Amino acid sequence: MSVVLVVNSGSSSFKYQLVEPEDGRVLASGIVERIGEPMGAAKHKVYFGGQEGVEAVTATDATYTRELPIPDHTSGFRVMLDAFAEWGPSLAENPPIAVGHRVVHGGARFFEPTLITNLVEINIDELSVLAPLHNPGALQGVRAAKAAFPDLAHVAVFDTAFHQTLPAAAYTYAIDKDLADAHRIRRYGFHGTSHKYVSRAAADFLGRPLEELKQVVFHLGNGASVTAVDGGRSVETSMGLTPLEGLVMGTRSGDIDPAVLFHLARRARMSIDDLDDLLNKRSGVLGLAGVNDMRDLEERVAQGHEDARLAMEVYIHRLRAYAGSYIAQLGGVDVIVFTAGVGENSPIVRAGALETLGFAGVRLDPERNEARGRGIRVISADGSPVTVLVVPTNEELEIARQALEVAAAL
Ligand code: AMP
Repeated sequence: MSVVLVVNSGSSSFKYQLVEPEDGRVLASGIVERIGEPMGAAKHKVYFGGQEGVEAVTATDATYTRELPIPDHTSGFRVMLDAFAEWGPSLAENPPIAVGHRVVHGGARFFEPTLITNLVEINIDELSVLAPLHNPGALQGVRAAKAAFPDLAHVAVFDTAFHQTLPAAAYTYAIDKDLADAHRIRRYGFHGTSHKYVSRAAADFLGRPLEELKQVVFHLGNGASVTAVDGGRSVETSMGLTPLEGLVMGTRSGDIDPAVLFHLARRARMSIDDLDDLLNKRSGVLGLAGVNDMRDLEERVAQGHEDARLAMEVYIHRLRAYAGSYIAQLGGVDVIVFTAGVGENSPIVRAGALETLGFAGVRLDPERNEARGRGIRVISADGSPVTVLVVPTNEELEIARQALEVAAAL
């Protein structure tokens, strides 16, 4: 069976997974981090009982760690290769047929998984203007992985790609057209790999044709976005030029009146960098309640902290506003899906988001919503006109599948 190495690289770390795309089995995963710092770290996990789409942790699964200086991504990949050689599984016995790379920004240029030629590398580099925090790190990972696996197909899977089907009415900002064109300012959308994976998985699970379904998909993790998926195509999504727009997130504000920025620049003398830092790193749930992890927020709500209660209300208020808007954009909804850390694990958030949607045919089953589970599950009541699902996302598997498709067509 063919295996694919999936790489998700940032500027000072990269994660990897060795996956069998056909059945979703994970053979190994790991992270190489603190690249460029005096002391780096590598963690390598071997799965003996991996099964479909699930990191099956068994008593015999093993995690190995190592600390050593890792000056750059190229040496990071050597550390990863050493980990495979030392702890397994053997890459000689399980040779990857492709390397799938997660790349955040594909601009308006990339709407499909793409074989990474030198020209594509240049394009990814050039798109760093739109994603300065993400694309440079991805490119470092691509170059280092190419050096480590020079004979393999390297495939870029873009976070923006799934949203290239947005209609112009959804992606156009109402600002000066020439200025927007000159600087490629429009909404791109993110988390596309996840939205694509879970919307297809939902249709497969229900045994209904994807082409016939209107879905609202909530990807609620540390970053959060919601997408309206009509017949398998993204037609509206909450993130924009950057992953800052839309929902309230762990540390990001999501939607805000842009005039707040002018006001803070003028009155509080904040610089562009200060404002960037404020909205991306010190806002959202963290800004309101002092914690960014949803588990901590829920705990504080339960303890009666007023700030936490308001933060939760603001978070849920925004979810409802988007749900209603997207149901209106779609002209109805068949399926609502929750995924990612918060979406998969927080019954409080799911119930809050759906509480007012009875008028649209959404009836949650409280017991199903509260029940814990690992796989895809229905949480709406029997007979609810709209089906509500929890679908665990698996971006690595989606990247592996897309990379395999490209490699197989070569
Ligand atoms: P992700 O970015 O998808 O890894 O999601 C991270 C978020 O999921 C964090 O805010 C976590 O607090 C949240 N999360 C993970 N497990 C739970 C849980 N059991 N209940 C509530 N939130 C959770």
